[in-house]
Amino acid sequence: MCRHLGWLGAQVPVSSLMWDPPQGLRVQSYAPRRQKHGLLNADGWGVGFFDGQMPRRWRSAAPLWGETSFESVAPALRSHCVIAAVRSATVGMPIEVSATAPFTDGHWLLSHNGVVDRTVLPLRSTAESLCDSAILADEIFQRGMDRLGDTIAEVGAADPLARLNILAANGSRLVATAWGDTLSILRRADGVVLASEPYDDDPDWEDVPDHHLVEVTGDQVNITALDGKGIR
Ligand code: GLN
Repeated sequence: MCRHLGWLGAQVPVSSLMWDPPQGLRVQSYAPRRQKHGLLNADGWGVGFFDGQMPRRWRSAAPLWGETSFESVAPALRSHCVIAAVRSATVGMPIEVSATAPFTDGHWLLSHNGVVDRTVLPLRSTAESLCDSAILADEIFQRGMDRLGDTIAEVGAADPLARLNILAANGSRLVATAWGDTLSILRRADGVVLASEPYDDDPDWEDVPDHHLVEVTGDQVNITALDGKGIR
C-alpha cells in the first residue's frame, strides 16, 4: 500500500509538502505511521504538479529517501496543485517508472493506494503500464472524473477485496476516495491537503471515513458517502 498526498491552494514549494514536514512523504517512504499493508515504500516515487494548466511529472523507480538530486531542486518548484506518492509495489506488479503514480491523461494527475484484480478492468493500450493502478487510472480517465464515485463503487462491487483509495487533481479540483485504506484531510489557511496519513501532529488533521469521496474546489470541501449505488 503506497502513501500519497495532494495539495490545492496557494503556490508552495513542492519540498514543503514532501520533505519539510516531520512525517512527510520522504519519511513515509521508510517509516509510515498508518500503513496496514507493507512496511516500506521503496519501489519508487512520483510527483506531479500544475504549471498553470499544464501537468508536469517527475517519477522514479528508486526509493524517495535516496533522492538527493530532486531534493535539491524541489524547493525551486512551486505550484498551487500537487499530487505526490511513494510506492510499495503489490506482489506481481512491475517495478518501473511507468507503473509509478501519478498517472495522467494530460489533464488530470492521479494516484492509487491499494490493489485491484486486473481481470475486472478492461485493458486498453492507453494504460501507461500493466500495473493494476495504471489500468485502474486509465479506466477512471476513460469514464470521466465526474463519475469517479460511480466508477469506484462499481469496481469495488466487481472486486470485493479491492482497496481503492484514489487521489487526483486537475489544477482547480482535488478529489479523493477512501475505500479500504486511510485518508486524512488538513484544512490550512492557505489551502487543503489530502493525504494517506498526517504529515505532522497538527490537531487539525481529520480522518475521512471509509467508503467516502472528498471533493475540494477553491476553499470548498465536500465529503459524501459512496454507498455502492454511486452517490457522488
Ligand atoms: N497496486 C499498486 C502497485 O502495485 C499500488 C500499491 C500500493 O498501494 N501499495 O503499485
